Amino acid sequence: MYRIAIANQKGGVGKTTSAINIATALAATGLRVLLFDLDPQGNASTGLGIGQAQRGRSSYDVLIERGGVAEAAVPSSVPRLSVVPATVDLSGAEIELVELEQRTHRLHRAIEETAPLWDVVLIDCPPSLGLLTINAMVAADSLLVPLQCEFFALEGLSQLLGTVERVRERFNPSLSILGVALTMYDRRNRLTEQVSTDVRAVLGKVVFETVIPRNVRLSEAPSHGLPALIYDHRCAGSEAYISLAREVIERMPRARVAA
Ligand code: ADP
Ligand code: MG
Repeated sequence: MYRIAIANQKGGVGKTTSAINIATALAATGLRVLLFDLDPQGNASTGLGIGQAQRGRSSYDVLIERGGVAEAAVPSSVPRLSVVPATVDLSGAEIELVELEQRTHRLHRAIEETAPLWDVVLIDCPPSLGLLTINAMVAADSLLVPLQCEFFALEGLSQLLGTVERVRERFNPSLSILGVALTMYDRRNRLTEQVSTDVRAVLGKVVFETVIPRNVRLSEAPSHGLPALIYDHRCAGSEAYISLAREVIERMPRARVAA
């Protein structure tokens, strides 16, 4: 089982869109995928068509040990893709977790317990560097960081990397960066091209070659409760996510995925 946290403390950079569509593409290759929704907004759950009524056990219950991952996981309409849904309860978790023992390792322990059930676990993080994201970093083998192609793209990244460094030192020495994915690329806008060039110059090979274009189909799909990859598998956004998922597969250690 290989675990990837999709993280960036900025909101609206494409974390959830990436989580849903990469998860779908990985499941389509035959892998058993779990998408763990760790954002109280529950967008990954909604975007995969998991309604409130289906959220019997949620990621919050898992964190406070009111249920295991296997009980909380709900099958999505995508074969081999299950979701641990999030509910608004999770918004209190940042504060409640502080009181609990092993507060940074709760997600790690819960996911470890059900390791035989999944080949890949993707964790969709909230837009903050609080205890929920720390739990994701402790539980993960690596991080996938979506970066929006805008003027301040790199701002905030050093803060994120600083948190990664602290998590490595204290809890999870093998945490790595799987890659940085440039999102919402707009060909007609010269600025995004410049941002992409600059980001590659600064970060080098850690940046995925695939760039996710700004594409309206990607933003429409969640309202239908479907991944863009199923809603319109031929749109430019879907094609880009298929290509990004291919790079993700290349970067995941094969032995870990199969184990
Ligand atoms: P985050 O999880 O980082 O907050 P989201 O994935 O929810 O970001 O994206 C924020 C908003 O932008 C959503 O409404 C989403 O549908 C839309 N969006 C994400 N990626 C794209 C894209 N490549 N092109 C167009 N809209 C996008
Ligand atoms: Mg999100």
